This record gives sequence, structure tokens and C-alpha cells, in this order.
Amino acid sequence: MTTSLAPRPASPSPVARPSSTAPAAPPVDRASAGGPVCVRLPQVFHDPLLEEPPVAGAPVEDRRRYAELAAGANAACQGCPLVVDCLYRAVVEHDVAGYVGGTTARQRVEIRRRLGVVVSPEDFDTLAGVLGGSRPVDHDEVLRVRAAHPDETLEVLALRLGCSLSTVKRHLRRERTSPSAPRPVDVRPSRRQVLEATLAVTQPSSGGHRRAA
Ligand code: SF4
Repeated sequence: MTTSLAPRPASPSPVARPSSTAPAAPPVDRASAGGPVCVRLPQVFHDPLLEEPPVAGAPVEDRRRYAELAAGANAACQGCPLVVDCLYRAVVEHDVAGYVGGTTARQRVEIRRRLGVVVSPEDFDTLAGVLGGSRPVDHDEVLRVRAAHPDETLEVLALRLGCSLSTVKRHLRRERTSPSAPRPVDVRPSRRQVLEATLAVTQPSSGGHRRAA
């Protein structure tokens, strides 16, 4: 099974097709391999246009600019050492906006549909560890650590989890207002299934669904 999502990164998706003026793929700094590449490209990943793609009737300049941003983001993701983990979490665990793990939000909707995955929309800071600097945590992880250390302060729990205090509070508040239904672990798709579905969605005409095998 390959760990690269883009053996042919030049045309990963219809919405991220590179143009001659697209931002150049950032050189992957192997000396700092292990960190998220997007952290070094806030001008691409934090551009509001990347989170809210222009509609069909939008001005040509907006659509051109979006294509440039998407191409630059895709090049960054394909060179990122975290891309497989990042994609898996963005598909299976968190519904966030923007370009994540080499996919657009719309592509992830289609990937989830194919896999039968349902996730609740969340705000972007759940993936802050992937895109910002601190460690990513999910709802179940916060609850597990809380249950294992019921007497610890939330500040200590945040330290244990490697996330912010506000993230811990938000997950615990969410659990109080909307208790989680038990979720069987085995309904989650495997990484291989996510990769295959991603390639089938982002490279539908290239036999991408066979490349993860
Ligand atoms: S969005 Fe994910 S895969 Fe893309 S550069 Fe950031 S951490 Fe890496």
C-alpha cells in the first residue's frame, strides 16, 4: 500500500488543477520533516477563498485565484509527511472546512458518502494540532482521559492531552449537552479504504482507486 496520495500530483482533482501561475510547490524541508507543511504557508491555507470556494457564477478572477490557491495547497499536502494521518482524520473524525489532507471540503463529503462515514461538523481548531502547532485531539480522547483522571484539573488534562484548555472545556461541554452515542470502533473505515476512496474521488479518470493497493 502506497503512502502517497498523489503519485501524479499535477492533477489531483478537478478543482485543484494547477495553472501556470499557481503558487509553486513548497520545497519540502527534509531537515524539518515530521511537521505540517501548511504551517509554513498561512498565506495559502488561511486564505478565506480556500475555505469558501467560489460558486459557478463567481467572477473569473476569483475562480482563477481559487485554482491557484488549491494547486498550491495540494502541492504542500503532497509533500507533507503527515498527509495520510491528516486525511484520515479529516475524513473520518472531523468535518472541517478548507483544504486538508490533499482534499477540498466538497471532495471529503463525497469520500464520506462512498465510505458511509458520518461526522458532525466541527470548528477548525479541532485540527489545530495538524494545522497550527499543538497536538490534535478528538472528542473520544478527551472523554477517555477525563474518565481516567476524574480528580485532575482541566488545566492538567489539557497538558496530558497536549491541547488547549479551551479545547478540553469545549469537548466536555459538548458531552454534557449532547452525550455521545456509543460508536462501534469497527464501523470506521481503514486507512486503506480512505486512501482508495480519496483517489477515486480526486483522480477518477486515472484508475486512482487501484493505486492504493
Ligand atoms: S493540511 Fe494536513 S496534509 Fe496538508 S500540509 Fe497541513 S498537515 Fe500536511
